Amino acid sequence: MSKSDFILELKDLRTYFPVRKFLQKKFVKAVDGVSFQVRRGETVGLVGESGCGKSTIGRTIMRFHNPTGGRIIFDGDDITACDMKPYRKRMQMVFQDPYSSLDPRMTVGDIVGEPLDIQYPNMSKAERHDRILEQIHLVGLNSEQLSRFPHEFSGGQRQRISIARAMVIKPEFMVLDEPVSALDVSIQAQIINMLMDLQERMGQAFLFIAHDLAVVRHISKQVVVMYLGHVMEINESEDLYRHPLHPYTQALLSAIPVPDPNTSRARKREVLVGDVPSPIDPPKGCVFCTRCKYATEVCREQAPQIEDVGGGHLVACHHFREI
Ligand code: SF4
Repeated sequence: MSKSDFILELKDLRTYFPVRKFLQKKFVKAVDGVSFQVRRGETVGLVGESGCGKSTIGRTIMRFHNPTGGRIIFDGDDITACDMKPYRKRMQMVFQDPYSSLDPRMTVGDIVGEPLDIQYPNMSKAERHDRILEQIHLVGLNSEQLSRFPHEFSGGQRQRISIARAMVIKPEFMVLDEPVSALDVSIQAQIINMLMDLQERMGQAFLFIAHDLAVVRHISKQVVVMYLGHVMEINESEDLYRHPLHPYTQALLSAIPVPDPNTSRARKREVLVGDVPSPIDPPKGCVFCTRCKYATEVCREQAPQIEDVGGGHLVACHHFREI
């Protein structure tokens, strides 16, 4: 596969944050050796419970945090430590909270036009206006709403404005950090369908971050499951939902509500017991061993290597073959 097939590659990415604990300097290992790729024009879903490090990955890719180790390759270029200015117009991020991510003193037209002013300062007023109008229509809003302020919109409409702001400069790659988590379920579906339509039309690749596996299923070609800063399993979306191999993925999937009561009654529910360990002092072996019902001595001593079990299905577990 040529390098151009991937818009983004993470290689052993690590992001640690220094903290003081009992006068000792320690590190919160938010991301600890994560590797995966995103193909051009496709969506990768990144899932896991709160605090597993998925948002830190998104922010590290955008270089809002500097990585502690590993490499970030964007379109074949190593951007781990370089000046990000030339890449800002090619990669954008949408944040979870559509209430705090929009400046309340700016009109919608100014919010959506701001990235054009920064990235294309010599763009003519007419072209700027046309680009803003085109983008506003693409996200399902209309020209009369350009002069309004964010507080005049619902949560779903605000997220449409955030998406228009990120897409107006036509980036090739976008990090969508829990873009629908703060919205009602019916609005979530509308926003996800809109993102899929926009992707088909404009060809961007997305890294779609969510804590809910049900949300990423519809939009993602591939899913990466994370726990405590580590990748547990990677597979094509439909295969992962049909044949999850890692005990953590199995537990996450079993918690998804099923609309059919007969199927729901017949389904075995896995309940995760125990607490998520501290990322300052993660377990010595497999990071999931304190909550895994299949854990053995080897799990508590040795971290499992992530292994390709065929067809690009990757699993990090000593015992997945026996489960
Ligand atoms: Fe569970 Fe052991 Fe597999 Fe970790 S390596 S998920 S503790 S069985």
